[in-house]
Amino acid sequence: MKIAILPGDGIGTEIVAEAVKVLHALDLKFENETALVGGAAYDAHGHPLPESTLKLAMASDAVLFGAVGDWKYDTLDRPLRPEQAILGLRKNMGLFANFRPAICYEQLVGASSLKPALISGLDILIIRELTGDIYFGQPRGRRVATDGHFPGAEEAFDTMRYSKPEIERIAHVAFQAARKRKTAGAEGRVTSVDKSNVLETFQFWKDVVSEVGKQYPDIALDHMYVDNAAMQLVKEPKRFDVVVTGNMFGDILSDEASMLTGSIGMLPSASLNSKNQGLYEPSHGSAPDIAGKGIANPLATILSAAMMLRFSLNQTEAADRIETAVKKVLALGLRTTDIYSEGTTKVGTSQMGDAVVKALG
Ligand code: NAD
Repeated sequence: MKIAILPGDGIGTEIVAEAVKVLHALDLKFENETALVGGAAYDAHGHPLPESTLKLAMASDAVLFGAVGDWKYDTLDRPLRPEQAILGLRKNMGLFANFRPAICYEQLVGASSLKPALISGLDILIIRELTGDIYFGQPRGRRVATDGHFPGAEEAFDTMRYSKPEIERIAHVAFQAARKRKTAGAEGRVTSVDKSNVLETFQFWKDVVSEVGKQYPDIALDHMYVDNAAMQLVKEPKRFDVVVTGNMFGDILSDEASMLTGSIGMLPSASLNSKNQGLYEPSHGSAPDIAGKGIANPLATILSAAMMLRFSLNQTEAADRIETAVKKVLALGLRTTDIYSEGTTKVGTSQMGDAVVKALG
């Protein structure tokens, strides 16, 4: 097992250090190698995704990624910005399925801005397609002003596009995930989110997903418009089991879903290719406002490492051990600042990592 460790910028280095600490405490045999990515790589090598980092990622079974970005890079040309590193890794590794579980830990029910009854016991999975849609459609660009004004553009355009194989591929992933969850007690339902009332691309999406759904008679399928899905996620989130959607709607809905449980510091994510090679990262960014203070919550990254063990490295037992340890630590009342409430014990980033290691038993 080879893991590429890409901590990135801001709190990335602090939280990834804790996840690596937990991985080393598991008595697993794995190789790991660390490389620069994002702003840190730009500063050292003039590019957010240097060739050496990409090579390492491609040659590994999995990538454990922290976060990238800082406001100081906002004036760089787009291809040199830290966030481009993620797009480059997704593209080169062929990562097409993004998994974002939104799970409400019982001890953190009070941290949500929603009423406890709405989110207590919440366990849903948002699956976002990563390679198609308006983010990668051609043509795209800006048109100069018809009166000859230049460089001021008069209009800009991005083309929404999905191919049948792309939709089929992500639909299979969603149905198979729903099937797996069903064996563990979930409802066995896929909700496909689209905008088929307005967009041709999403009428096509709906048709293709329905067709694929016929191969999974044990899994219920329903379709929902994205505006309604955004509303239902806060009105009645527990009505969902697995949600599957395109790149742009998924970008927005997965962030919305991740906040249902109250803290962005708790939510892991996985992006997988067809060989189960994956990139694992917390759902949050590099949090420059708290970087270097030792107060960032490392649990999302530690839980991402658990997803990595389960999905890419076939170490289900080790993944379970991490997830159980995180629950134990929360039950002990240990909290980083972002999830702190009265009556609990405030701890820093590395103390939280140490507590998870101890709770592994
Ligand atoms: P952010 O997620 O970094 O931070 C939002 C808020 O949440 C901040 O107040 C931050 O302090 C807090 N927060 C985030 N993670 C936390 C943690 N683990 N523990 C405690 N608090 C936490 O989003 P932002 O401020 O919009 O973006 C900051 C930078 O991160 C930008 O440069 C942005 O482009 C980048 N970004 C990167 C990724 C990524 O690497 N995948 C994702 C989103 C944003």
